[in-house]
Order: sequence, then C-alpha cells, then structure tokens
Amino acid sequence: MASIKLEIVSPDKMVYSDDVEMAIVHSTGGELGIMPNHAPLLTGILPHAMHVKKDSHEELIAIAGGFMEVSSNKITILASAAELPINIDINRAQKAYARAQERLESLHQSPDEHKDIDSLRAHAALERAKARLQATKTID
Ligand code: ATP
Repeated sequence: MASIKLEIVSPDKMVYSDDVEMAIVHSTGGELGIMPNHAPLLTGILPHAMHVKKDSHEELIAIAGGFMEVSSNKITILASAAELPINIDINRAQKAYARAQERLESLHQSPDEHKDIDSLRAHAALERAKARLQATKTID
C-alpha cells in the first residue's frame, strides 16, 4: 500500500518516525487528511489527538500544538510537545485539565486587568490536557 513518511519532533526528541497510510490533523485552517503524495503545505497545528493510519490500524498521538510541513511525500510536525499514548501520564493530564477549568471559572468572575492573557493561557492548557486525555481515550 502507498505510504508517506511521518516525523513528529518535539523540542527534546523525535517522538514518531514511520511510514504511514494517512494522518488526520487539526490545522489552524481546519481538519486535514494527509495521504501519500499530498501537495506541499505549511500550516499551524492546534492542540489535539491526531490520528495516524498504518497497516490498517489507527493510532492516536497527542500534539500540544506547533507547525506542519508536507513536502516530497513527507509530513514533518514540529510540536511544542507530543506524546504517544503509552508515555502519557493520565493522572497528570487530568489534574492539568481540572486546574485549567478552575482557572477559567475564577477568571470568569474576576475583574483582573490581565484577564484576557490569563484566559488564553488557561484555555491553551485546557486544550493540551484534553489532547492527552483524548489520545489515551480517557475523554471523548
Ligand atoms: P502540566 O501542567 O501537567 O505540566 P502542560 O500542558 O503545561 O502540562 P507542556 O508544557 O505541554 O505541559 O509539556 C511540558 C513537558 O511535559 C513536555 O515534555 C510534555 O511532553 C510533558 N508532559 C506534559 N503533560 C504530560 C502528561 N500528562 N504525560 C506525559 N508527559 C507530559
């Protein structure tokens, strides 16, 4: 079956490197299905659990956000953080999720002048935690 090379790189390591049949990612421009010989592309990636199809199996990988380049039948994802499900600490992600939710709720009631920035940060933390919980099938 035709394949495309997928490399996912985080600041400290190569998280994934393999030939795959398809990758489905949430880009800043919407959901993209990348198949072999996809046209060249450069886009931002949102925090999410990306789907990878290989040997007719589907894998999930948590991506905290970053950039994706598609070129010469290769997908390169440069992520601020990325984890395979086996490396995800579910308890840590659940705590991060609850913490971000509490922060968003308290910001909602506060007249704090830094509210917008704090709210963006809490929202981003919530999305990263959600990506990890989705990759481990802990939440929908
Ligand atoms: P936390 O508040 O739990 O630190 P975070 O979303 O702020 O979560 P990041 O800044 O995205 O964390 O990641 C920092 C580092 O910690 C990265 O190397 C990332 O892979 C790792 N990491 C974060 N959360 C988890 C987790 N639940 N399981 C495994 N590794 C994690």
